[in-house]
Amino acid sequence: MKPKFTICRLGAQKKAQNVDEIITKSVLQDICKRLTHQEKYDIDWVEERINGKMFTFETDNTKYYITYTLNRVGGRNSYLQSVPTAFGIFINDALYNTKKSLFCLYFTHHNGNNQTRYHQFIYRLLKSIGVCFINSDEELKGLNVQPYDNVKDLISDREFNTIHNNYNQSSYITDEGSYYHVYGKTFGANQKETTMLCLALCGISDKPIRLFQISDNDSKYLSDTDIDAIKTYATKFSKVGIEILDDTYEFEDDNEQVPIKTDPQSSLRSPRFILNLLEKTGGHKSCSLCQCEIESIIQGAHIYPVQAIKQQTDLSFEERLKMATDKNNGIWLCENHHKLFDRGLIRFENGKLKIMPKLNDNDKEFVNTISTIQAIDQNYFTSKMAEYFKKRDDFYRSEKYY
Ligand SMILES: [Zn+2]
Repeated sequence: MKPKFTICRLGAQKKAQNVDEIITKSVLQDICKRLTHQEKYDIDWVEERINGKMFTFETDNTKYYITYTLNRVGGRNSYLQSVPTAFGIFINDALYNTKKSLFCLYFTHHNGNNQTRYHQFIYRLLKSIGVCFINSDEELKGLNVQPYDNVKDLISDREFNTIHNNYNQSSYITDEGSYYHVYGKTFGANQKETTMLCLALCGISDKPIRLFQISDNDSKYLSDTDIDAIKTYATKFSKVGIEILDDTYEFEDDNEQVPIKTDPQSSLRSPRFILNLLEKTGGHKSCSLCQCEIESIIQGAHIYPVQAIKQQTDLSFEERLKMATDKNNGIWLCENHHKLFDRGLIRFENGKLKIMPKLNDNDKEFVNTISTIQAIDQNYFTSKMAEYFKKRDDFYRSEKYY
C-alpha cells in the first residue's frame, strides 16, 4: 500500500494557525521521505474534530502518530504545548493497534531560540518517554538529546532551570524516602508540564510515585486525556506505579506524609501546604535550624498547628483551610527539630530560636550544638509568620505544652 496520511481538518487548531498552513505539502513530503525513503503518499482529509494537534501516517507495518511544534517559540510553554495531549491520544489508541505504533514530533520552521536550557530539558523529557524526533538534524542542529535514565539528573536539571529562569514551577518533585511525591498544578500550560514530568518519571523511577493534583485557578484535576495517558503509560512501562491523588487527601500529620482520604470539607492538612512551602523556597527543602538537606527527613512544619486551626470553629472551613495551607504558616524542619518544636521544647521569638527551660543543661547544650543557624533566614521571615508564631505560643500555653 502507498503510505497514507490521515489528517483531521477541524478542532483544536482553530485558535492557532490553520492546520493547512502548518501541515503544508512540503512538510508532508519531508515527513514521508524521512520515514519511508519514498516520495509518494496519499492523504485522507477528515472533516472531523480532533482534540490535539496531531495526524497519523501509516505504512504497511507501522502507524506513526505525528505532532508538531507551533511556529512561534515564544514563551516557555507555547512551542511544545501540543505534545502532551497528542501523546495522550497516542498512548491510549496504541493499545488497540496490531501494527507497530510510534509517536513522533515534527519540528516546523520557527523564529527564535528553540535551544534554551528549558527547551533542552523538555526535549530530554520527551526522549525519556520514547518520542521520536523526525527532523531534529535540521531544526535542532548539533543538539544531541539524551533521555534521562535516573530521577536525580532530571531533578537537578529542573532546579537549574528554576534558579536561572526565575519562574514558578508547574510542579515540584520531592524525595520522601520510599516514594517520590509530585505536587502538580492543574491549570492550562502548567497541567501540560505536570503531565510530561509524570510520564518521564514513570519510565525511570525506582520508587513508587504519588502525584498530588493541586487545584490551580479553579482547575482541580488534570484533563481526563492526561490522566489516562499517565495511567496507561505507567501500566505499560513503569516498574513502580503511580498513584494519582487530589488535594482533598490529607496527610496524617506533619511528620508522616501518608495520604489518607478524608471528607473534603474537613481536610485541612492538604498537600497544597507543601506545594506552597516549596514555592516559597524555590523547590528547595532544608532545615531552618541546621541546614540539613537530606530531603526525605525534611518536613513541612506548621507554625500555628492544624490541631489548633481545627478548633477555631468561629471561622468558616474556607478560612481555616487558607490558614492551614498558608505559606507563611510553615517552615522546613528536619525530623529532630520538628519533634523538638512539636513537643514544645523549642520555640521562636522574633524568628530566633529559644530553648525551653524545662530541658536540663546537657540537653540544652545538645540542642544548641545541632542548631547551627538559630534564627529563621531573614529572606523568608515575614510579619505574617511572626503573627503565626504568636498564635502558636498562645495555643501552647493554653494547652499547657510550655
Ligand atoms: Zn534540623
